[in-house]
This record gives sequence, C-alpha cells and structure tokens, in this order.
Amino acid sequence: MKIVDISTEVKEIALKTPFITALRRVERIEFVRVTVRCDDGSVALGEAPATRAVTGEDIYSILSAVAFIAEELIDLTPSDAIKTLHLAEMGSSAKAALDMALFSLLPDAKEKQSITLETDITISLKDADEMLSDATQAIANGMNILKVKFGRDIKHAIEVTKRLSDLDAKLIIDANQAWTQDDTMEYLEATLNVKLELIEQPVKADQLHELRCITNYSHVPIVADESVFTLEDAKAVIEYACADMINIKLMKCGGVTKAIEILEFARKNSVKCMLGSMLEGPISINAALNLAMQYSDVIAYIDLDSPLLYKEPSDELEFDFKGCEINRKR
Ligand SMILES: [Mg+2]
Repeated sequence: MKIVDISTEVKEIALKTPFITALRRVERIEFVRVTVRCDDGSVALGEAPATRAVTGEDIYSILSAVAFIAEELIDLTPSDAIKTLHLAEMGSSAKAALDMALFSLLPDAKEKQSITLETDITISLKDADEMLSDATQAIANGMNILKVKFGRDIKHAIEVTKRLSDLDAKLIIDANQAWTQDDTMEYLEATLNVKLELIEQPVKADQLHELRCITNYSHVPIVADESVFTLEDAKAVIEYACADMINIKLMKCGGVTKAIEILEFARKNSVKCMLGSMLEGPISINAALNLAMQYSDVIAYIDLDSPLLYKEPSDELEFDFKGCEINRKR
C-alpha cells in the first residue's frame, strides 16, 4: 500500500458556549482536516485544531507544514511515511494530524478495544457565581468529574474551590500555568480541607524546579501538562519527580505513534497518565479515544470533553457520549 495523495481542508465546529481558560477564549473550534489516499483505495483522515496559545501553531502554519512534508510522503508506505514524518522539523499539531491518519492505515490500528470510559468536563474560568452555576448544571447533565479552570487570581481560585467542594463531584484543578510557586502554596494551604483529585500545571511550563518543589510539598497529586510535549519531556519530568502524573495530548506529542511511546514509558515506570485534548474535531477525538481504550491500565483520567461542547452532535464520532460515559458506537 502506497500513498498517492494528501489533501487538506479547514473545518469549523460551533460551541454551545465559549470556552475560557487562563490562556484563551474560544467560541468555535477551527481545525485542519488531512485526507490521505492510498493506491489500494484506502482513505484515512487526521485533524489538528489551531491552538496557538499552547503549540504555537495557527491554521496557516498547520496547512503549510502539511503541504510541505506531503511531497516527501507520496509513494511511501504508511509505516515509512510515519518514520519520515517524525524526522521532520514541524509543529506538533500538524504532525499529529498526519500521524493519526497514517497510523489508522497500519494493521495494528485495526484491533480496537471496547470498554466504557468516563470523561471529565471543563468548567470555564468565569466569576465565582457563574462557575458554581455551570458546575451545578454539568452535574445535572450527568457529569461527575469537573475540570475547573483558574487564572491568576488566587483568591478567586480559593473561593470557587471551597464553594465547589459542597457539590457531589470530583474536582480536577487546572491553572494552565497561571500561578507562581507562592500562589500554589497559598492555594494548597487554603484548600487543605477540600478533597481534590489533581492539580494541573500550576506554574509555567519551563519552571520544572518550582513544579518539583510543589509536587514534593503537595498533598494533592500534581499533573504536568504544558511542561510535557515529547517523550523526552515526559522522561525528564518523571525521572526528576517534577510531577506525579502527566497529561498526554496528541497535539502536543505529535500524534498516536508518539503518544504510544510516552504511554509505554509511563507503563514501565508505573506512572499514571491523563489523556487530554485541545478543543478538537471528531476525527482526532476518535484517535484519542481508541488510544484511551487500548491503554486503560495507564490512563487514569480522560479529558476528552470536546464533543460535549459541540453545538450540534457529530455523526463522524465512533463513540457515543452520554453524561460522563463514553462507549463505542455499535
Ligand atoms: Mg491542562
């Protein structure tokens, strides 16, 4: 099987309500869809959203990166194309879109697990009353793990956390790098009586020393997200005990092939992972969920709530989303 054509298109999905974190505000998901065609008639899809705040890529850089490498991939088999792709210097999301399409053409990808998974749901950064009402609504919709987004205002984070602790849901806190080490210590002290599942990326991605000090001190497990893009990043964070867990996202690591390398490393080192996503389209969510089902022993938390935020349901999903539960469609 050889690749004969690679094409791209830009697609959009409207969201029910804006998605707001310390890094950005988004009203619609915009993504590049890659279509790979082979000489035996096989067609495979991949996707990458533009998440400049995290990966530094926009729609145009993704389109041009894919167009640039596509010429080198024509006439190769999917497995040779994956090797060539990962030798190239290009953005991680553009790589992920191509990698997930190519990976789906490999014989390994045909074996699919089918188990029930549970995703968290994001509570966007807003004023305290609105966050409480969004959380209450999410629980009424059947969600039981809330991923709560906070910004620089640590007093607001503490207040909202205390108020959310009265609700019947598990709480994952995500600061998206907005805090200092001192802020984090203040937050931990002030919320000592609140049961928290995890705190994600309190400090800046490159502040590994600060992250390590926080992890050492914290009674709540700390997750590295923006600090870990590649396998090398994951190795550094795990070997130096900078965090208790890592959040793997296809768009950060460069696709399914690379996520598997990180998951295998985590499995060998008995480190649990979160499998997350940006705001993404249905094809990249399918790729992440297939991975989550295959590595359910390593992946302790799933943060793949994008489809729950779509204004209209997508018939391209291979999975049903009902409340927090995700099942493969029959
Ligand atoms: Mg995060």
